[in-house]
Amino acid sequence: MPRDALRIRDLVVEPGVKRRGFLTVGETGAGPVELPVVLVHGARPGPTLCLTGGTHGTEYPGQTAVRTLARELDPAGLAGTVIAIPVLNMPMFAARTAFLSPIDGLNLNRVAPGRPDGTLTELIAHTLFSEILPLATHHIDCHGGDLTELLWPYSAYRLTGKPELDELGTAMARLYTPGIFALFREGTPLTLTSGTITSEAAKRGIASILGECGSAGGLDPGDVRTHLDGIANVMRFIGMLPGPPVIRERQLVGTGQFVVQARRGGLLRLSVGIGETIEEGQELGEVWDVFGDPVETLRAPARGLIRIIWTHKVVSSGDLVLKCWTTEPAPPFALPNQVPR
Ligand SMILES: [Zn+2]
Repeated sequence: MPRDALRIRDLVVEPGVKRRGFLTVGETGAGPVELPVVLVHGARPGPTLCLTGGTHGTEYPGQTAVRTLARELDPAGLAGTVIAIPVLNMPMFAARTAFLSPIDGLNLNRVAPGRPDGTLTELIAHTLFSEILPLATHHIDCHGGDLTELLWPYSAYRLTGKPELDELGTAMARLYTPGIFALFREGTPLTLTSGTITSEAAKRGIASILGECGSAGGLDPGDVRTHLDGIANVMRFIGMLPGPPVIRERQLVGTGQFVVQARRGGLLRLSVGIGETIEEGQELGEVWDVFGDPVETLRAPARGLIRIIWTHKVVSSGDLVLKCWTTEPAPPFALPNQVPR
């Protein structure tokens, strides 16, 4: 039976064809705010994978991976369909702001699924959740450290309590990450913040994972490669690309997290780096006053792996310095059968 064309508004793509365009979500006084969309409609049937980058406009490696994959994918060799949005949050992309939209002050990854009568950030989320994600069986939201964050790569999935979906989402997260993954669940130390895109998508039955790699507004080719490898590995697993997925050995699973804060104000002098494992009581650095006298020694409250270092060099009382995972070796990974959807 011939495959149907894929249609999103006036973007219509026949099987075996790639097409791109913009979806208008609203407007500012300066003109329309649009979502850039690339539709790669495979010649053969298969899953529909939505890839989103630029939920936060200055997290460049993930959006670059989505853009690169959408450019390189050949619909003739693809089973299924990729709906790629290189940059979800174009106002942030244009303004180069971190975390929050320059237009309405909202965090796009806290307002999902959005509102049709909301402001621009809510309208972006609403367009994603009402017109794009309902077409998808699988979804990857590509993030990284924002302008002020050094980040150690990881992936995450929000457990829903639906066994087949959770098995699929967990497998995708493990195939995406180079080393650490986390499974978020209500009522555990890894409770997920409400309104995140991946958790709201998973609630709607979509196997939706978070892929995090990249740091501090940078665009390191190795970070782009980490995202691209993760996406391709998931695509092999769900049968969109040929070949078996690579099973990564010796993974860690995040079991909890904690932060280290400064109590004193001054110049921060850290003596540890991103991805390092720290031991309880270990000295992490010092805070110096403006004359260079040490006023505080920072120590690890527990054993953990440093997942975020905030890049600020001067701190005030209560400022975040580090965020760490507590981890365990992940159980052996047996690839589940692809769950029919
Ligand atoms: Zn982000």
